[in-house]
Amino acid sequence: MTLTGELDYRQYLRLGMMPHILCPGCGHGTVLKAILRAVHGLGLDRERVVFVSGIGCSSRLVGYVDFCSLHTTHGRPLTFATGLKLARPDLHVIVITGDGDGLAIGGNHLIHAARRNIGLTCLLLNNATYGMTGGQGAPTTPPGARSSTMRGGTIEADFDACQLVRGAGGTFVARGMTAAPLGLDELIARALAHRGFSFVEIISDCPEFFGRYNGLGRGPEMLEAQRRHLDEVDDVLAAKRVLPGLETPAGPHPARAHGVLHEEARPELSEQLRARGAMPAPATGRRPAGPEDASGPVGRASVTGQCEIRLAGAGGQGIVLAGLLLAEAAVAAGKNATQAAPKSSSATATSTIPAPIAWMSSSR
Ligand code: SF4
Repeated sequence: MTLTGELDYRQYLRLGMMPHILCPGCGHGTVLKAILRAVHGLGLDRERVVFVSGIGCSSRLVGYVDFCSLHTTHGRPLTFATGLKLARPDLHVIVITGDGDGLAIGGNHLIHAARRNIGLTCLLLNNATYGMTGGQGAPTTPPGARSSTMRGGTIEADFDACQLVRGAGGTFVARGMTAAPLGLDELIARALAHRGFSFVEIISDCPEFFGRYNGLGRGPEMLEAQRRHLDEVDDVLAAKRVLPGLETPAGPHPARAHGVLHEEARPELSEQLRARGAMPAPATGRRPAGPEDASGPVGRASVTGQCEIRLAGAGGQGIVLAGLLLAEAAVAAGKNATQAAPKSSSATATSTIPAPIAWMSSSR
């Protein structure tokens, strides 16, 4: 697809949220424009586009877009997005995360989202540092680069996010750079058009911390450094005739192959679940009138007239929290709720129940 012409970005922005918090020269603004150009260029229905983010400077972007958006907890945007996509497979769910949010705290979720091939688009803005919290070292801080936690230069190894996602089974893996903004919108548009999990790592720049600590100058100078590495990696790949994405020369800003690194067709998770009858019909947004007609995703009426809701998932996905929220909702609706104590606990059931649950357990 070709994205051409002028775009009035204001139509997609929550202008009441301005001025934004990004520092002068921050690369994240460039990424935001590319995202909006991609959404606009594809002609997506804005009622069917949802942005989800975690915590960090990059995650603040979802607050500025005039779409439905979820600004969630640190490292967990992919878990919220997974639930959303399973409930509403008709939505374009776009996750905006950073290298700290998506590769450190939420790294496990990234691996499994790729493995499952759930139809989300994950845009990971990698500036090789924790910008929002003061320039601490991140999993992508290159060896030797200085951060607020390793002022003499990091001695830990970094890793290649694209290779990680590819290794986990990602079916669309790409890398872009704020130093090459004209191609970024098309890259994101291709990711959005992919059926299944699509991942785009975008090398962004944080002049405030990474640039300042490493003597790379302000925004324009950092972009120049990125462009030099862009040329450098093209030369390396051409000379060695290696597969794109497999070569990782060292540098103050990781110089790695860019463009679409991998693309394959594989069945998408929610489609497979529905084909097996393991999922209810997609929700329409309409609230069921009651348990009798609760055939949607909130539950099914059993032959006994009871409404059963089963929460399932893997460890760390917030299942216990989801149960607590459900119990709170039940109590708020005038019903009773109880919680069984963990079997491994040697204490009595009542003594292991946290205070909020003890409150919920008492009938109103
Ligand atoms: S701290 Fe860095 S990443 Fe955060 S807004 Fe400033 S320049 Fe951007």
